[in-house]
Amino acid sequence: MARTKKVKMAGRFGPRYGLRVRRMIIKIEELQRQKYVCKRCGKKAVKRVGSGIWECKACGYKFAGGCYVPSTTIAQSFEKSLER
Ligand SMILES: [Zn+2]
Repeated sequence: MARTKKVKMAGRFGPRYGLRVRRMIIKIEELQRQKYVCKRCGKKAVKRVGSGIWECKACGYKFAGGCYVPSTTIAQSFEKSLER
């Protein structure tokens, strides 16, 4: 395998796109790999199964969310307005 330098996962892009872009990609990919709290069962078991698709491994709840994180900031503010 080729050397990946400082950029971890984004090393697959090689020297293309520039370092700043690759650092952004690393951040986004770390966000994608995180587990998130399920809205239905409250467990931290939600994983990204596809672009914008999220699934809770604990209760099987599947939902569409943001492409990189389960709920977009727009969705969060929308939910807050529903709670009132
Ligand atoms: Zn759940």
